[in-house]
Amino acid sequence: MISTSPNSLNLPKHRTRRVLVIDDTESIHDDFRMTLAPPKADASLALEAAAIFGDETPEALPSDAQDFVIDSAYQGEDGCKKVCHALAHGDPYAVAFVDMRMPPGWDGLETIERLWEVDPDLQIVICSAYSDYSWEDIIQRLGVNDQLLLLKKPFDTAEVSQLAVALTQKWELAQQAGMKFSELQGMVDRQTEALRQLAYCDKLTGLPNRAGLFEQLRPLVTESGDGFGLFFLDFDRFKLVNDSLGHDMGDELLIQITQRINQVLAQPDTIDVEDAPKPFASRLGGDEFVVVWPGCADHDWLDAKAQTLLSALRPAYTLGRHQVTSTASIGVTTSQIGYTRAEDAIRDADVAMYQAKNTGKDRACFFTMQMHDQAVERLGLEEGLAKALTQDELALFYQPIVDVQTGQTAGFEALIRWDRPGSGFVNPEYFISIAEETGQIIEIGQWVLDTAIQQHAQWRRQPGHEHLFMSINLSKRQLVDSSIAETIRDLLKKHDVPAQTIKVEITETAIMENPETVAPVLDELRALGVGLSMDDFGKGHSSLSCLHQFPLTTLKIDRLFIKNMEEHREYGAIIQAIIVLAKNLGIDVVAEGIETDAQLAQLQALDCDYAQGYFFSRPAPAHEVFEG
Ligand code: C2E
Ligand code: MG
Ligand code: MG
Repeated sequence: MISTSPNSLNLPKHRTRRVLVIDDTESIHDDFRMTLAPPKADASLALEAAAIFGDETPEALPSDAQDFVIDSAYQGEDGCKKVCHALAHGDPYAVAFVDMRMPPGWDGLETIERLWEVDPDLQIVICSAYSDYSWEDIIQRLGVNDQLLLLKKPFDTAEVSQLAVALTQKWELAQQAGMKFSELQGMVDRQTEALRQLAYCDKLTGLPNRAGLFEQLRPLVTESGDGFGLFFLDFDRFKLVNDSLGHDMGDELLIQITQRINQVLAQPDTIDVEDAPKPFASRLGGDEFVVVWPGCADHDWLDAKAQTLLSALRPAYTLGRHQVTSTASIGVTTSQIGYTRAEDAIRDADVAMYQAKNTGKDRACFFTMQMHDQAVERLGLEEGLAKALTQDELALFYQPIVDVQTGQTAGFEALIRWDRPGSGFVNPEYFISIAEETGQIIEIGQWVLDTAIQQHAQWRRQPGHEHLFMSINLSKRQLVDSSIAETIRDLLKKHDVPAQTIKVEITETAIMENPETVAPVLDELRALGVGLSMDDFGKGHSSLSCLHQFPLTTLKIDRLFIKNMEEHREYGAIIQAIIVLAKNLGIDVVAEGIETDAQLAQLQALDCDYAQGYFFSRPAPAHEVFEG
C-alpha cells in the first residue's frame, strides 16, 4: 500500500516522539498513556507501526523506535503554553490530541487555532463526541488542512495508536522536508493517502469503516436527493463462534459474511440508474455492519431487499472443519424520518436492530418513533439505575415461604425493589433485565447478596428463628461470573451464617440457555453447601431431565402452573408428577404464587413441601416482616 519506509530516508532509528494530550477529563490522560506509553514495551505497537509504514517485518523498526512521551494539559491555554515552551527548548511536540469541549476555557477549535499560531507544524487530532461540531463545521472554521484528523469518542485504542504512530512519522518527514521539501512532497502525499485509507477502511474486510461510512453517508443525509434506506446488521451468533472457535475463525466468518453482502449488493436492480450512487456496505466494528441504499426510501422495496439479504446470510458457513450458522438481525430506517445528521440515522437503525433481535432474530424491523421513545425511556432507566445504588434507592423486600403441612414460615425469598424518584416502584423483572444487559447486575447482585445475608443473620439471632432459610435470586450474568461462589463464601463468613441456611434461586432459562458454562458454577456453589433452587420451573422449555443433570436441592413451580391448576385438571396431574419425581431425587418442591385457600388445599393433597404467595403474605420490607 505504501511505497517507502522511513528507513529508506535514513531517518534516525530512534526518536522519542512527543505527544501532548489536551483534555479536561483526567482519566483520558491515563487512557492515552496506557495506549501509547504502556509501562512495558508493547510489541503490538511495533507491529502496527511496521504495517503502517510498509516495513516487511517488525524488526525493521527497533523495539524502542516508537517511544512516545505523553504530556498532559487540562485546558487549551495551558496546552498552548506547553507547546510554546517545548518549541523554545528545541524539543517540539509532534502531535497533539485535543478535546473538543473543555469548559470553562477555550473549546477545541479555538485551542487548535492558537496552537497553530504558535507551532504551524504541529499535527493535531480532534477528539470529539458525536454531538459536538460536525466535520463540515470544523473545516469551515479551520480550513482544509492535512495536519488535522478527527477521532470520535469513545476511542478505539487501536485507532489512537495508529493515529499517533502515523502522525508522528508524518511530522518527522515534514521536519526533514524543511530541507528537501520538493523531494519529499510526493511521498508525504502518498503517506497521507495511505493514512486516509487506514482511517477510512476496515483492514479485515476491506469495507469502509465507521469513518468511511460517515464520509459517504453525510452527503446523502444533507442533500435533498431521492432519499435512502439504511440497514444496521448484527449477527446473532457471532460471539458464540468467536468464543468457541477462536478469533481466527471469527475473522474468517466476517470475511465470508462480507462476501455474501457484497454479492447481494452487486445484484442487478430495479432502481439501478446509470450514474446513480450504488448501494454500499461498511463495517462498524465487531459483527456490526451497515448497508446503505441510496436512491430509494420505499418501505416495501427496502423490505424486499432486507429479505434477500437475510436469505443470503442464512445458509451455514464453512469455517475449517465446522459448519456454522449465523443469521442476521437487521434494523432498517429511511430518509423519510427526516434526518439531518448521519449519526441519527445509524442510531435509529441500531434501535430497530435491537427490536429485530428481541422479537426472534433472523428478521428485519423498521424503525418507528415509538421505538425512539422506548429507547429514550430505557436510557433514562439505565442512567437512573447507575445512581440507584449510591443514592440508596434500592431495597430488599422479603416474602415468606411456608411449610405446606404445618403452615409455619420456613424461610424467606429476598426480592429487590427500586423506588425510583418521580416514578415509584419499577418492575424488577424489567430493570433486572436492563442491568443484565449493561453489566450493572454484578454490582447490584453483590449488594443483594450482602444485604439479604446480613438480614438473614440478624433474624437468625432472634430466638425461635434459627431454623429459617433465606432464598436469594441470582441472575444469568452473575452465574457466568466465575467468582460467584467465592463471593458468596466470603459473605457467609462476613455475616457468620451457615451455608446450609442459604438457597440461591436460578431461573430454569438461565440454566438451560447455557448449561455447559453454568454446570461447573452450580457444582462449586453446591460444594460450598448452599442450596440450589431452580426458579420458575415450567415457564421456559421445561424438561424434567434437567433435574437429574444439575445438583439441585429445590424446585420452584412457576405460578402459571398453580394458576391453571384449579381450572384445568391436567395441570394438577403434571404438578403431581413433578412432585413425585422431585421427591424421588431428594429435591424439595416450592409452589409459587398461591393466592387462594383452594390452591393451598390442593397442594397439601399433592404433598407439596412449601408454598409462597399473596395468600400468606406479599413481599414486605424487613421491618414489617415479623410485625403482628
Ligand atoms: P421470582 O424470583 O419468581 O419471584 C417471585 C415473584 O412472584 C415476585 O415478583 C413476587 O412478588 C411474585 N409473587 C409472589 N407471590 C405472588 C402471588 O401470589 N401472585 C402473584 N401474581 N405474584 C406473586 P417480583 O418481586 O416482581 O420479582 C419478579 C422477578 O424479578 C423475580 O421472580 C426474580 O426473577 C426477579 N428478581 C427479584 N429480585 C431479584 C434479585 O434480587 N435479583 C435477581 N437477579 N432477580 C430478582
Ligand atoms: Mg425467585
Ligand atoms: Mg419464581
